[in-house]
Amino acid sequence: MDLLEYQARDLFEQFGVPVLPGRIATTPAEARAAYDDLGVDLVVIKAQVRTGGRGKAGGVKLARGADAVEKTAAEILALDIKGHRVETVMLSPGADIAEEYYFSILLDRAAGGYLAMVSIEGGMDIETLAVERPEALVKVPLDPVEGITPTVAQRIVTEAGFLPDDHRAVGEVLQTLWRVFHESDATLVEVNPLVKTGSGDIIALDGKVTLDGNADFRHPEWEQYSETTGDVDLERQARELDLNYVKLDGSIGVIGNGAGLVMSSLDVVAAAGADLPGAPKPANFLDIGGGASATVMANGLRIIMSDPQVKSVFVNIFGGITACNDVANGIVHALDMLGDEARLPIVVRLDGNSVDVGKAILAEARHPLIIVKNTMDEAARAAAQLAAEGN
Ligand code: GDP
Ligand code: MN
Repeated sequence: MDLLEYQARDLFEQFGVPVLPGRIATTPAEARAAYDDLGVDLVVIKAQVRTGGRGKAGGVKLARGADAVEKTAAEILALDIKGHRVETVMLSPGADIAEEYYFSILLDRAAGGYLAMVSIEGGMDIETLAVERPEALVKVPLDPVEGITPTVAQRIVTEAGFLPDDHRAVGEVLQTLWRVFHESDATLVEVNPLVKTGSGDIIALDGKVTLDGNADFRHPEWEQYSETTGDVDLERQARELDLNYVKLDGSIGVIGNGAGLVMSSLDVVAAAGADLPGAPKPANFLDIGGGASATVMANGLRIIMSDPQVKSVFVNIFGGITACNDVANGIVHALDMLGDEARLPIVVRLDGNSVDVGKAILAEARHPLIIVKNTMDEAARAAAQLAAEGN
C-alpha cells in the first residue's frame, strides 16, 4: 500500500521527523484557503499522485500570492502524470534549500534483510544516479533487529560523506526514519530530497512510504488510507470479492488460474506487446485459482473491465483439477451475467484437462467478444494486438 506524499508527511510528523507544514486542497479555491491558512509568502504546490518524477512533469511548482496560488493549483489539478489524474495538491511553505540529499530504507528481498541507501547528491533522479554514478549511492545493510542505532547512523553518515558538522542532525533524522519504517511495518521509506536549509536545518521535503499490507491486521489506523481513489479502489473491490488481484499500469487485462501461470502470462503479454504501437503492457495480475466458477470469472472480468485503461483481456487457463469445460462454462455464464458491462474482446487460451470439450463449449456459444487461440503465445499476441489497436 503506497501512501500519498501528504500522508507520508503526516506520518513523519507523528514520529518527529522534521517536516514542513502541509495543507491539502482538491480545488483552486481550497488551495487559496490553504495558502491563507499557512500564512507565508512563498509556497510550493505539489501534485499528490502515486508516481515519481512529479517535478519534471510540472507537478511541483512555487507560487507567491493568493491569485498565483489559485492559478498554479488549477494548472496542477488539471494534470495527468503518467496516467495518474491529479485530484489533490499539497501546499507547503517554500523551503530555502542549500543542499539536497537522498535517503531510503527498504526491504531487500534478494538479501532477505533491510537496506539503507543514502547519497549526498540528492535532487536528481535516483535511478539515474544509481546507473551513472553508482559510487555516489552508498548502501548499508541493516540488521533487522538492531535497525539504525546511534552507532549505525554514525557509520551511514560517515560512509555517505556528510560534513562532520552535519553528522549529528542527519544521524538523528535517520534514526527517526528507522522508527517510522519499523513501527509502521513499512517496506519502503524514501526521502528524496532530504534537505539542508540555508539556516542549517535538516528537513524531509518529500516522502514516499509503502506499507506492508500483510500487517494491516495490527494497524487499525490504516483505515484512513482506504478512502483514496483509482487503482487502490479497484484493489479494494477485488479484495472484498476475495480475488487475488494486483493493479498494474498497462492496457491488457490478464486472468489465469494459478499464480505461476499468471506471472508467466504477464511476461508473455509484455513481450508480445513490446514491438507494437504504444507497447501495450499487462494491466493487472489476477489469479482466479482452482474451481473457477462463473461467479469468480464474472467478478474478475468486471473488475478488469472497470479499469478504464484496459483495452483487451487475455484469459489463460490450464485445466487441472478444474477441467477446461468447467472454465469454459464459467466464461460463457460470466458473460451472460455481465451483459452490456462486458465491453472488451476476450482472448482465451485453454489447455489441459478436457480442453476439447472446453473449446467446443466456447465455439458453440458464438459470443462476439470471445476469441479462442490455441497456444499461449498466439493468444498473448492477439490480446496485445487488440490493445494496441484500441489505443
Ligand atoms: P518528485 O519530483 O515527485 O520527487 O517531487 P519532490 O517533492 O521531490 O520535488 C521535486 C524537486 O522540487 C525537489 O527536488 C526540489 O528541488 C524542488 N522543491 C520541492 N519543494 C521545494 C521548495 O519548497 N522550494 C524549492 N526551492 N524547491 C522545492
Ligand atoms: Mn522527490
